[in-house]
Amino acid sequence: MAYLTLRGINKIYPNGFHAVHDFNLEIEKGEFIVFVGSSGCGKSTTLRMIAGLENISKGDFLIDGARANEKGPRDRGVAMVFQSYALYPHMSVYDNLAFGLTLQGVDEDVIEQRVNKTAGILGLTDYLDRKPRALSGGQRQRVAVGRAIIRKVDIFLMDEPLSNLDAKQRVTMRSEITQIHRETGATTIYVTHDQTEAMTMADRIVVMKEGYIQQVGTPYDLYFNPVNMFVAGFIGEPPMNFIHATLKGGKLDIHGNIADLSAIADKSVLEKYEGKEVVLGFRPEAVKLVGSGNPENAYKISCMVELTELLGDNTNVYVDIQGIKTILKVEPHESPELDAKLDFAIPYENVYLFDKETEKRIKLKK
Ligand code: ADP
Repeated sequence: MAYLTLRGINKIYPNGFHAVHDFNLEIEKGEFIVFVGSSGCGKSTTLRMIAGLENISKGDFLIDGARANEKGPRDRGVAMVFQSYALYPHMSVYDNLAFGLTLQGVDEDVIEQRVNKTAGILGLTDYLDRKPRALSGGQRQRVAVGRAIIRKVDIFLMDEPLSNLDAKQRVTMRSEITQIHRETGATTIYVTHDQTEAMTMADRIVVMKEGYIQQVGTPYDLYFNPVNMFVAGFIGEPPMNFIHATLKGGKLDIHGNIADLSAIADKSVLEKYEGKEVVLGFRPEAVKLVGSGNPENAYKISCMVELTELLGDNTNVYVDIQGIKTILKVEPHESPELDAKLDFAIPYENVYLFDKETEKRIKLKK
């Protein structure tokens, strides 16, 4: 049986706004789950319903098989870390860490032990006497995480905990949180709008859009087997390229570049979409630059180079395919000349097709 069960969860705010629709998810003990999606898609609302900070309008929330909808936040065995840290400004780091335990009436000796251990894990030992205002953003965030882990709860809930940090601190804290998760083994639900955080931290990711779950899966699943254009475009950086093209006689006319789909798609699929517009998707990093010859098991596409960005480990190449803008990711030594013609190839296995109407992925082989 799953440890946490969300069954048909809905949230309708008092003003009538339906923020979360029919949310279904089962979470195993010890899993690291990330809710990801653009701002306003319902991630925090869902997390707050799990925390007991928002009531559930419809549906069931179960902890270890027992209905928990009516349980108060304190009785759910959860600790929450917020984006805003929510530290007590007038208290030292030591007291901020100790506060929850003091409230619970834990012995002073035990508190001291646990504060010292937590501070050690988070690199805060030298800062225990300081007030939050005398800490950097990263250190404050560590105190906020420390306050959650010191309570030894079974469930950690984190709402955009890294969004106030600079890029470098975010990368460091990302791996620290993953490490803490490994050490504590606590079931963790982490909310972010940042797909990189989701990809690097999660056991499983829940992609949300406008209050609906789009897909649940491992980072690998979502990257290689997105169910629709939204997930395909959300996961991966730079995002997947999408090109509208029409299917005729089993061939896709990609703005003058002809792709014979019979090698990669079943006949029945091609017949179903005959004469229709579909969307071709390919990831910027899934292409290969080619010379004058025709590549094997790949579609060759000609384009014009408009802009290149050398990022160190790779170069982003912005190209124009007969008016369609796309991005290619190539090795720095392959960086092409500006305004030059460029031929690239999309290997068959890296080609995605989507239904233009439903935006769902078209399964090419039965
Ligand atoms: P996210 O965390 O994904 O950014 P939220 O869960 O905070 O999104 O919000 C989801 C939607 O619910 C948003 O459109 C937001 O404006 C709306 N919302 C959030 N809180 C309330 C509220 N108290 N009353 C009405 N609408 C709300």
